[in-house]
Amino acid sequence: MGDILLENTLSGRKEPFVPLHDGEVRMYTCGPTVYDSAHIGNFRTFVFQDILRRFLLLRGFKMLHVMNLTDVDDRIIQNAAAAGITIFEYTRKHTQAFLEDMAALNIESPEHLIRATDHIEDMVALIERLAEKSITYSTDGSIYYRIAKFPGYGKLSKIDLTGIQAGARVELDRYEKADARDFALWKAPKPGEHFWQTRIGPGRPGWHIECSAMAMKYLGETIDIHTGGVDLAFPHHENEIAQSEAATGKPFAHFWLHAEHLIVEGEKMSKSLGNFFTLRDLFAKGYKPSTIRFLLASVPYRRQFNFTFDSLQQAASSVERLRNFVYRLQNEKFPDGPNPAMASRIQQAEDDLHHGLEDDLNTAQALAAIFDLVRDVNTAIDRGEFHAGDAPRTLIAMTIFDAIFAVLPDDDAEKLRALGFGAAGAAEVGDAEIETLVAERQAARKRRDFSTADRIRAQLDERGIILEDTKDGGVRWKRK
Ligand code: AMP
Ligand code: ZN
Repeated sequence: MGDILLENTLSGRKEPFVPLHDGEVRMYTCGPTVYDSAHIGNFRTFVFQDILRRFLLLRGFKMLHVMNLTDVDDRIIQNAAAAGITIFEYTRKHTQAFLEDMAALNIESPEHLIRATDHIEDMVALIERLAEKSITYSTDGSIYYRIAKFPGYGKLSKIDLTGIQAGARVELDRYEKADARDFALWKAPKPGEHFWQTRIGPGRPGWHIECSAMAMKYLGETIDIHTGGVDLAFPHHENEIAQSEAATGKPFAHFWLHAEHLIVEGEKMSKSLGNFFTLRDLFAKGYKPSTIRFLLASVPYRRQFNFTFDSLQQAASSVERLRNFVYRLQNEKFPDGPNPAMASRIQQAEDDLHHGLEDDLNTAQALAAIFDLVRDVNTAIDRGEFHAGDAPRTLIAMTIFDAIFAVLPDDDAEKLRALGFGAAGAAEVGDAEIETLVAERQAARKRRDFSTADRIRAQLDERGIILEDTKDGGVRWKRK
């Protein structure tokens, strides 16, 4: 197996990945701000980091992975006040929903999934460390980071800061700053706001200090990989670098990986355009968790993701094809013995899968490797060239594939039920999805794969759909 190449935003190049600690990867992921439900754009980024995590595990690394939950910020404070509840009550339900969504998408839990509000002391200590180095200044009880004292500022995002004039507003906050680029490390409380009484005064932390403090607490002063969506590179990650490196004098993260954004049908996702979707919006429309995961995983993370309902439909049939393939391998009778030619075909697919993922997580290439294998094995089965001895090896290849993509177990109905979406989403199952399954079954029958055809008929039956074969070899369906 070759080197794992990852595109590093810091260097602007693909670089071979080597962790600092032998065999162990220390990785930090900026988690969600739990002020609302996460949307499918957020999950594009979280699925990407899960693919990265799973690939590193597959390659034998031990993971030490941290994801934070930002559970205090302006929006949380405002929304909680409007609802007349504490910020903790307010964020609890969104945190819970986020964890359920992660589980629905088979996103593995990082080793540490931590709340910002449990780490105020660590943030205070880091601000004190920066204050000792005269990098901070205070105005009206708030504490700011003086960017002019950090010469490396801008090295990650390569942003040209000359246009940002003193006095211009770059952040939403209304606090007094000496320079527009400076940012708040600590915010003095406004009347009625939740605050912490600390050694550096009453108030609450800025968003950027959270991630620096939590990353370094669990992962050490220099970490291997830091991930997030592309919008976080500036100013959030730039500020994390400024804070951490000014405090320690060491590089903060070796690799910075940023996922490009998800857009919907060619447009930026926004509530006002009516094209804003949470996972649950899609579950309510009858789409399965595995379909959404597959689709989100299918586009390499450095490419912009154009989410469309057509592609979601295609993803549903792709997952079906893979599951049917595994089912066929497990249930059909094949001629005895192995066919040596098959072993090398399977090995090639595994190699191609690895090559794709080694190339900065090219999931599209990895998927092509598997779908080519599925096609070739189906053809070999139809020709009687696939033998019983080849099935276990093929199933292992599918298991390796699924260690990354995590879509093969047929547990969607169970997951949807647990989240309160009807009888396995059955009532809501859309015509388009039925058409897809019916077409899959027809294709299976055509290639004389009757075990798959029967399985699809049973699946449809379970979901209240009856099939009637017509005299001309076609098929009609109706709801029971
Ligand atoms: P937030 O909850 O806004 O802090 O975002 C959580 C994560 O989702 C961050 O890594 C963001 O960069 C990422 N993100 C936000 N919007 C999108 C989008 N449309 N597509 C992909 N990732 C996004
Ligand atoms: Zn962060």
